[in-house]
Amino acid sequence: MSTAILVINCGSSSIKYALVSSGQEQRIHGLAENLNSEHARIKGITVGGEPLELSIPNANHEQALDILLKRLGQYQPQAIGHRVVHGGTLTKAERLTPEIVQRIKDATPLAPLHNPAHLIGIEATMRLFPNLPQVAVFDTAFHQTMPEHAYRYAVPKFLYTDHNVRRYGFHGTSHAYVSSHKKGGWLSAHLGNGSSTCAIYNGKSVDTSMGLTPHEGIVMGTRSGDVDPSLHSFLAYNLGWDIYKIDKMLTHQSGLYGLSNNLSNDMRTLIEASQQGNDDATLAIEVFCYRLAKSLSALSCSLPTLDGLIFTGGIGENSAYIREKMLTYLHHFSFKLDQQKNNELPRGTQGQIDAGQGPEIWVIPTDEEGRIAQETHQIALMDI
Ligand code: AMP
Repeated sequence: MSTAILVINCGSSSIKYALVSSGQEQRIHGLAENLNSEHARIKGITVGGEPLELSIPNANHEQALDILLKRLGQYQPQAIGHRVVHGGTLTKAERLTPEIVQRIKDATPLAPLHNPAHLIGIEATMRLFPNLPQVAVFDTAFHQTMPEHAYRYAVPKFLYTDHNVRRYGFHGTSHAYVSSHKKGGWLSAHLGNGSSTCAIYNGKSVDTSMGLTPHEGIVMGTRSGDVDPSLHSFLAYNLGWDIYKIDKMLTHQSGLYGLSNNLSNDMRTLIEASQQGNDDATLAIEVFCYRLAKSLSALSCSLPTLDGLIFTGGIGENSAYIREKMLTYLHHFSFKLDQQKNNELPRGTQGQIDAGQGPEIWVIPTDEEGRIAQETHQIALMDI
């Protein structure tokens, strides 16, 4: 690894990390989890491809990062790239300066669970490695090219001007990565535990399904996606629920999990259960596919031409069944799936699965870490 970038994604009690070589051909990756508890540990893969498991009782983010970096030995990074969910109105990845750190803090009300955790990681790495260039790569930045008619909500103007209430969009690194070599109009479906769709024209996001928060849009593992905005007042008036209970239900107990009557948020489990005759699982899959098709249809009106569709994320990359089922709902588009190519595409590989007529259909495994490393390299190391 001649030049390597350390990519970090900090959660409130975890750090996902990857050391990516400049040609992206080598990776060391893993997860420090249960931080600040006696069960804190690091699980990962070493540069030799060996599994690594290390108990680090009561370690905090900074201690875990310190241990990790010491274990990398000769493979020390030349720069650090931080995944940051919400960049507010920042339009691209930025080198970390006190001003950019402040902008990330300012965006905290828009991502109250994510940004504070990212800031813990940023502050820890800045203390540990004050001489390494560090870059923040934002999930929201790719969508800053959306036109105003796509990002404004139909609510009183002052909520936008005084309180930044607008649509931001998320999964930007993934949508950007999978569409990076595509010309013309493309729809991208990132389908994982969190899921979103995006319309991209000549490499620029023109609309997306997620909004102010990563909750808007299509059905996800445990998130409801779009609901009637009056559901909140319905539950408050009729069931006496407060906003925290409603939020928790919509975030953690809904989506595939809620639809399947708490069977699972995992698509594999639902497909198996459906095949064994579980009606709730069958309905959850049907709603997921229908709402996905509906979202893609709606986004298509933002594109002057429709040249293709990309599937990515754990479900999009691995489930030929979901890809085929979803496409049966897109009647009015001339997509033609090649069933054999769809069914036989090896896991984890990129491939074109249309029958050669109509818009193209691709499966492209996402690589958010690789994209973050690439952007970090461009910003941090071009002037070294
Ligand atoms: P991600 O959040 O991108 O890691 O994706 C996680 C989702 O991908 C889970 O719902 C998994 O069940 C789903 N997934 C992974 N492999 C498959 C598969 N072979 N078939 C269906 N879903 C899958």
